[in-house]
Amino acid sequence: MRYWGILLGKLVAAAAVLYAVWYCLHLWRPEPAQHVRAFGHDPFVHDLGWTTIMFLYNLLVNGFLVLIILDQRYRCRTCGRRLRMPIRRGTHAQVLFGPPRTEYICIYGHGTLKVNELQLTGREAPDWKPHEDMWKELYSIEEEEKQK
Ligand SMILES: [Zn+2]
Repeated sequence: MRYWGILLGKLVAAAAVLYAVWYCLHLWRPEPAQHVRAFGHDPFVHDLGWTTIMFLYNLLVNGFLVLIILDQRYRCRTCGRRLRMPIRRGTHAQVLFGPPRTEYICIYGHGTLKVNELQLTGREAPDWKPHEDMWKELYSIEEEEKQK
């Protein structure tokens, strides 16, 4: 739940920033209304300056979305914190039985994210595996040692 809340928060913050940029662009260059009044059509494709500004603004919006998605991909699905301690596993020499991948963990033990570096059969989604309660596992090991 917190994971999706963080995503929603980032999207709302990005929308606010992008709206402010959009508002400033309209204050800086209020041509569209004058252009529509003068020529009777949208200045988007007919005015090179306005079209360039809209192109750059579109790049900015897409850049924000990519950064938000990249940041979200490497967050813990349970607590929403950034995943840490990347470990490289496998090699390029063993593509079939040990393909190269990077594993990230949540520092609070909620799970592991495995990201394949080779995408041989198309785009593969990262593999998130939640961990069970690590204290339960430690207590079970302790109980087994006492029984021996
Ligand atoms: Zn976590």
